[in-house]
Amino acid sequence: MQRNIDFSSYSSIKIGPKIDVEIIDKPKDCSDYILIGGANNLLISPNPPKLAMLGKKFDFIKEIDGFLHIGATTPSGKVLSYAKRFDIANFELMQKLPGTMGGMTKMNAGLKEWEIFNHLVAIKTENGWIKKRDIDYRYRHARIEGTIFEVKFEILKGFDYELLKMFKKLRDNQPSYPSAGSCFKNPKGGFAGKLLEDTGLKGFQIGDMAFSKEHANFLINLGNGDFKDAMNLINEAKKRVYEKFEIELELEIEVLGHQT
Ligand SMILES: Cc1cc2nc3c(=O)[nH]c(=O)nc-3n(C[C@H](O)[C@H](O)[C@H](O)COP(=O)(O)OP(=O)(O)OC[C@H]3O[C@@H](n4cnc5c(N)ncnc54)[C@H](O)[C@@H]3O)c2cc1C
Repeated sequence: MQRNIDFSSYSSIKIGPKIDVEIIDKPKDCSDYILIGGANNLLISPNPPKLAMLGKKFDFIKEIDGFLHIGATTPSGKVLSYAKRFDIANFELMQKLPGTMGGMTKMNAGLKEWEIFNHLVAIKTENGWIKKRDIDYRYRHARIEGTIFEVKFEILKGFDYELLKMFKKLRDNQPSYPSAGSCFKNPKGGFAGKLLEDTGLKGFQIGDMAFSKEHANFLINLGNGDFKDAMNLINEAKKRVYEKFEIELELEIEVLGHQT
């Protein structure tokens, strides 16, 4: 089954073509496709590779044998509401963290020291359950062969409203324009946003794309921004930061495809 998706409205950065995406209804090998979740971390070109997404069947939260099982298409907001309702700790970081369980796991999404992998127990792919200790995960990355269909977490009581308040506050200064979150990963011992500021890129604009005036590491769409302008800004930033600091900036957002 396929679904026709207009990525200029579906993706959080509001860029991308209108194309057919394969819908996956049961656990199976999807290696012919790039799996997408909510497209909150993606910059999709006019010529993307073949894309697939999981169907609604994978939008669930269940308690089984003392563990929380969350389906890969379950949105962060739903997980957060569940954690509040049943007084479960360690999901506070999902406050205003847009994404599905699959995308958040693949990205090891988080803020500062709070990351998805902190309390994760195992991941279910087409090859069965993989325990956390067998997964190579780090800052904003998890090396997972195959598709994530389900994620298992420990259940610890005590939803922390103080922590929630802190996440709310930290995210309050995020730009309101469409973006895909932080554009570059923070290099070891530094901040990508500071490097962009120090190379004159805070507020720098090409066409309708810009590095935000409020938060330099957010690549924002001011209205009619397109893939080409976004890539030109990304390449300009990499060039300036390398020339000035000899640091190779690594993208946090994922670029799917190329311009032509
Ligand atoms: C305003 C804003 C703020 C943000 N703030 C943060 C933040 O504070 N911290 C942070 O870490 N991120 C942040 N992000 C980025 C984004 O929220 C995360 O990267 C999130 O994990 C993306 O989830 P998604 O479902 O949209 O994944 P997508 O963007 O669709 O995909 C992300 C990656 O996951 C893979 N993927 C998706 N689903 C599956 C699956 N089922 N199996 C295997 N691979 C899969 C995709 O192939 C891709 O590699 C922000 C984004 C926005 C727009």
